[in-house]
Amino acid sequence: MSLDDFTSIVKDYDEPKYRAEQLFTWIYKRNVQSFAEMENLPKQLKINIANNYLLNPLKILKVTGTKSATTRKFLLECNDGEKIEAVLMKEQKRITICLSSQVGCALGCEFCATGTMGIIRNLTVGEIVAQYLLLLKESEKPITNVVFMGMGEPFLNYNNVIKATDLINHPEGINLGARHITISTAGIVPQIRQFAKEKQRYKLAISLNGSTQEQRLKTMPIAKKYPIDKLIESVKDYYNARRKLVTFEYVLLADINDSELDAKRLISLISDLPCKLNVIPYNEIGGKFNRPSDEKIQDFLGKFINAPFTVTTRWSKGADINAGCGQLVVS
Ligand code: SAH
Ligand code: SF4
Repeated sequence: MSLDDFTSIVKDYDEPKYRAEQLFTWIYKRNVQSFAEMENLPKQLKINIANNYLLNPLKILKVTGTKSATTRKFLLECNDGEKIEAVLMKEQKRITICLSSQVGCALGCEFCATGTMGIIRNLTVGEIVAQYLLLLKESEKPITNVVFMGMGEPFLNYNNVIKATDLINHPEGINLGARHITISTAGIVPQIRQFAKEKQRYKLAISLNGSTQEQRLKTMPIAKKYPIDKLIESVKDYYNARRKLVTFEYVLLADINDSELDAKRLISLISDLPCKLNVIPYNEIGGKFNRPSDEKIQDFLGKFINAPFTVTTRWSKGADINAGCGQLVVS
């Protein structure tokens, strides 16, 4: 809930507006897990709210990975019994959490475990923010980065994702900077345009995963609805409107999109756009694809030495506990 939501709740109970601010602070800044802990609120107000609202809509069912491990995966249960996963990653000073935006995903990308689930439902704003608050409690250090790269397609749950992100970014609450929050989309063109039009300050990542329309079509059914040229055009318009670098993600699949020709095509596809390229060697999910050998991965990366954009490689953390990119799935 936003500060406005709290304001109208406390008004219903004939309490002054500053009670809303107190509630907001307890929940988002202090991250309390019970109404009892909210010391400066009247008892009756707490009882009334507790009777009508849920403070924490998620429960931790299982944690994979030890506290000292660089990656820990959390299986979380929603109030209606649906399950999702979120991942906490440590990398020197950077603590990143990977959040889910939906239960399952409608897009069915062939290389992604979440895609095999189909779409069950969108997550609520509360369920998205609760992933942050729960993982923060579990983390030894403050969270420095949030990525919407867990289960689901964030831009198909656009309104809730933006509202949740606004709460994570809110200066009186969690207060994580907009530049530390990245939303990754498989290429939902109308929402990329909406994101630009609304002047959203969060970072945008685009899962390109292929260098031609034919190639994308082979692994990403959504490419049929939003072809690569329309996708690139929308990203260029986003850049022209916002002047913010976009990151292209490229899952590297052996003998599918890892040739020298692919590297060349990729360079000509995105070179006139200020951007970054993040190559993600495929994490095995037991399907028909393979991860290229380390040598092949290095060969591919080597083709970008003179490219006009920065190339990074995501050596997915947590692949050993099935917490790597694309490995999140629940049954
Ligand atoms: N639905 C959004 C966000 C979640 S997926 C999207 O697709 O962008 C986050 C990233 O993981 C995407 O870039 C996706 O292409 C990548 N990914 C999916 N399956 C993968 C796998 N098996 N190995 C490596 N990366 C994968
Ligand atoms: Fe959905 Fe992203 Fe997985 Fe594709 S890669 S199925 S869009 S979660």
